[in-house]
Amino acid sequence: MSTVAPGAAAVAFRPVACRKAAAGPSSRLLAPTAALPARGSGFGSSTAQQQRRQHKRRQLGQRLVVRADRDFYQILGVSRDADKKTIKSAYRQLARKFHPDVNKEADAEDRFKDISAAYEVLSDDEKRGIYDRFGEQGLKGGFAGAGAGGMGGMGDFSNPFDIFETFFGGGMGGGMGGFGGMGGGAARARNRPIPGDDQRYDLRLDFTEAVFGCSKEIEVSRLEDCSTCSGSGVKPGTTPTTCSTCKGAGQVVQAVRTPLGMFQQVATCPTCGGTGEQSTPCGTCQGDGRVRGSKRISLRVPPGVDEGSRLRVRGEGDAGRRNGEAGDLYVFISVKPHPELRREGATIHSDVEISYVDAILGTTVKVTTLGTNELSQVDLKIPAGTQPGTTLVMSKRGVPKLGTANARGDHLVHVKVKIPKSISGEEKKLMEQLRELQTSKPAASSRGWF
Ligand SMILES: [Zn+2]
Ligand SMILES: [Zn+2]
Repeated sequence: MSTVAPGAAAVAFRPVACRKAAAGPSSRLLAPTAALPARGSGFGSSTAQQQRRQHKRRQLGQRLVVRADRDFYQILGVSRDADKKTIKSAYRQLARKFHPDVNKEADAEDRFKDISAAYEVLSDDEKRGIYDRFGEQGLKGGFAGAGAGGMGGMGDFSNPFDIFETFFGGGMGGGMGGFGGMGGGAARARNRPIPGDDQRYDLRLDFTEAVFGCSKEIEVSRLEDCSTCSGSGVKPGTTPTTCSTCKGAGQVVQAVRTPLGMFQQVATCPTCGGTGEQSTPCGTCQGDGRVRGSKRISLRVPPGVDEGSRLRVRGEGDAGRRNGEAGDLYVFISVKPHPELRREGATIHSDVEISYVDAILGTTVKVTTLGTNELSQVDLKIPAGTQPGTTLVMSKRGVPKLGTANARGDHLVHVKVKIPKSISGEEKKLMEQLRELQTSKPAASSRGWF
């Protein structure tokens, strides 16, 4: 402590977490239904988990930045003896330039906050006096007794967005008019759209439906725009008022005193969830702007889908909030097995069982395979002398390859040779004759017939 004693109060620590991060995803978390799990699956809730993870990461990732005393005159670009009018016009110019809703540069938000802090101090005679004599640390805690009056206590700066709105909201008559064409400025940006969650639907297909493709009517349950309030969540006939907790800023600045100094933390307003507004909730949707509904969707399943395939139907998930984009619908495919045909990607496997006599002499068998649009029976020639375990390939009789027009896999037929466990007396006699024939002509098997 001793090495930093004089500056202990002067060194301000502030979390890096920026306003956007605080107001964006965390207000999603606060939304009562945004994290609803998808019906009959954990898919929707995995989105919620992701949000929680992001939230956690944000908390873990809040590095603390040590900041030296700021030169408020330099920040506003005014001389040390600048009059109030000059200070005001410097603020007006810079605040509009660096407002994070307008300026997308990475350090715009920090600049904006510095500009606001500088203006807050320099536009107030008393604060400016303290600053001139003691620097920024004079404005921080511990100067209550030094005649700083209201600057005692926590000694933190006001919310920069409050200052901005007080300045422009009142002074310019036209409200946010100064931001014409720039997306509506702070108020609208705080009410930024929240996209809807994705939804999952599990679809079980017959073997042939998956192989050849099919059309399916499915009925999905998802959140749709509330028709009573047209998705606004506000009771028709009422108007939202400015949130009394955050005065419309959508966020609150919390100061936490620690042994290292002051932590200044910007958090999403718990009362309004970052919107900056309080309103009478719509009775139909309880203020969410969305209600659960169901819709029939015609789904075209392409040929070649397989167990675990996922079809995405754009925009058919949950409706977004505040005009946010709707989520997508993901159809998860599972496939019923076929009694004879086994599938391995685009390849079909099946077995045929033939007698040892047929294996030796050759034969023709009927096998079930894939036709153009349906299963078909074809004759498969088994050549003479086929060994047990032989695989015969029926080229291009496999599954259409997903997403390619005419490419197909092969059908592999595995030949099993049946050895009888018991045979009739006559058969046995013939077999013994056969054996005699083979032992008296041993050369036949090794050297052929000659
Ligand atoms: Zn409603
Ligand atoms: Zn609020």
